[in-house]
Amino acid sequence: MDCTVCKTKTCRTAESCRAEKFNSADIIKIYEEEENQIIVQAAAQLVDNGKAGTLSKLQEIAEFVSTMKYQKVGLAYCYGMEKDAIEVKKYFKQKGIPISAVSCTIGGIAQDNINKESCIHKVSCNPIGQATQLNHEKTDLVLIMGICLGHDILLQRNLEADFTTLVVKDRVHNHNPLHALRN
Ligand code: SF4
Repeated sequence: MDCTVCKTKTCRTAESCRAEKFNSADIIKIYEEEENQIIVQAAAQLVDNGKAGTLSKLQEIAEFVSTMKYQKVGLAYCYGMEKDAIEVKKYFKQKGIPISAVSCTIGGIAQDNINKESCIHKVSCNPIGQATQLNHEKTDLVLIMGICLGHDILLQRNLEADFTTLVVKDRVHNHNPLHALRN
């Protein structure tokens, strides 16, 4: 399937083009479930009634946390972004939102312990440990900040709480992958 080359964009008029391989009635039923309705409605509050484009990502997250009545946020950050992580932490603390910040190097495990092919005995990123620690902290939502590709997959697979990405790591393009396409 390649929606990008579609000329009709029928779906944009709230009509199906019949290309989909699911039954919309079944999908709607899933949205109607209480746990999904809560998220859908909280997300709508960020953009409906002309609000779209008025909030930064941090502001959106703070509002979402408030709407969802989350008690505690987790920050899974890359050690290389620690200065920025401190600012993120201050931002949420100022909003009265408790936050647990956990570095990717938690546990101090060496690379040759994590990667069987490595002989480097320097500290490694430890996304499984990072997720396990955040699970222990009982956070309601984890913000992912600059975790390396691959490590982010392991982190997300092992988190028990919901998560959202705050910062995508792109070492070349100041952490905005779209810069590679627009320059
Ligand atoms: S109308 Fe169908 S093919 Fe076209 S963009 Fe929408 S879903 Fe994709």
